[in-house]
Amino acid sequence: LSERLGGVFDRLTKQGALSEADVVAALREVRVALLEADVSLPVARDFIKRVQAKATGAAVTKSVTPGQQVVKIVHDELVATLTGDEDPGALKIDNPPVAILMVGLQGSGKTTTTAKLARRLKDREGKRVLMASLDTNRPAAMDQLAVLGVQVGVDTLPIVKGQTAPEIARRARTQAAMGGYDVVILDTAGRMHIDEVLMDEVQAVRDIATPRETLLVVDGLTGQDAVNVATEFDGKVGITGVVLTRMDGDGRGGAALSMRAVTGKPIRFVGVGEKSDALETFEASRVAGRILGMGDIVALVEKAQETLEIEQAERMMKRFQKGQFNMNDLKGQLEQMLKMGGMQGMMGMMPGMGKMSKAAEVAGFDDKMLRRQIALIQSMTKRERANPDLLQASRKKRIAAGAGLEVQELNRLLKMHRQMADMMKKLGKKGMLKQAMGAMM
Ligand code: GDP
Ligand code: MG
Repeated sequence: LSERLGGVFDRLTKQGALSEADVVAALREVRVALLEADVSLPVARDFIKRVQAKATGAAVTKSVTPGQQVVKIVHDELVATLTGDEDPGALKIDNPPVAILMVGLQGSGKTTTTAKLARRLKDREGKRVLMASLDTNRPAAMDQLAVLGVQVGVDTLPIVKGQTAPEIARRARTQAAMGGYDVVILDTAGRMHIDEVLMDEVQAVRDIATPRETLLVVDGLTGQDAVNVATEFDGKVGITGVVLTRMDGDGRGGAALSMRAVTGKPIRFVGVGEKSDALETFEASRVAGRILGMGDIVALVEKAQETLEIEQAERMMKRFQKGQFNMNDLKGQLEQMLKMGGMQGMMGMMPGMGKMSKAAEVAGFDDKMLRRQIALIQSMTKRERANPDLLQASRKKRIAAGAGLEVQELNRLLKMHRQMADMMKKLGKKGMLKQAMGAMM
């Protein structure tokens, strides 16, 4: 696929900003990649539309083709979409005993994941965990969980033949409270397909167990069906998160994007094998890379961006060492400071500037002041910025007025510029500038 894309990218013209044609051409290939990764069609379509709006007009990093730039933008958007506000690994399990309800279709990996999760909570968080199988459909299902419980050293609710799922849920709740457990994980039965009977049963169990977390377990190889499964379970039962299993296989995990897009619920964990320790916290960038399958291009663009930043910094440093520190440079520094949390934070990081940091504090440097100073520099002509010594009193008045400020403020700015230029020169001679710049980057 990357080869195919390479062809498209070569044909794309190189220019400073992404044109609509560039974006459309590259996104055609991205669309194929998403569908090959089993992202559901409507989700892929929506996603592409969103990226198209975002990417058109975006800047192209030097030495990168527009097509490659689009892929990077797609990747970042994919990561952003897959990443929720919440920490995927941190389940809401305070105020014991807390119930976690595992739901999903048959064979999706619910029972296996129940044991994996129990082991994880016990080993990593020191929780006392109880597992209960509510699967009354398959005679072997309860035994399966009991065997896994012994393997991972987690208690299972004793099996009582002939009880319904809601009855078992009630017994599990009592047992969890009496036994002093922190967490009780309820493993439910699944069907091959979503049906009313399954949903009714899960709802009844939910009403008894009042789970804090309801995790939908979905096979990572699920294709177009992922949207239906997620919509149904979220609509009828209300899920709080998703576990994607069998991600150790060939599946590209497009189901993750589909389900996140339609439910807005976080992907919590990823199953990566049959063993009880094969459960990982969901990592958006990894799964995004897998869905898109263009990791090499993303890495290339990231590298180019990094290289460019280093080049710019080095060029700036060379000029500073020669004592070339004009108003444009100062403006750049002021803007950088704004980005990095103001003057004090900045100065404190630069060796030899501790004193200035204190002075800055006394002088009341803050973001507002930085913005005023930037406005002053913007009112200067190109020549004046390059050589502020040219400034006559009358021009100073005009510039200050142009920025809506007093002349004193401009004078303070000019004085600061002189001091900084001197300092840059001195630091440059001592070879300390490099160090100082390093701290700033
Ligand atoms: P349930 O019907 O939803 O309870 O599914 P099970 O937990 O019984 O799992 C069905 C099959 O999938 C079993 O053979 C599991 O070992 C297997 N399985 C579950 N999770 C994973 C996984 O993450 N990777 C692999 N390779 N197999 C898994
Ligand atoms: Mg099962």
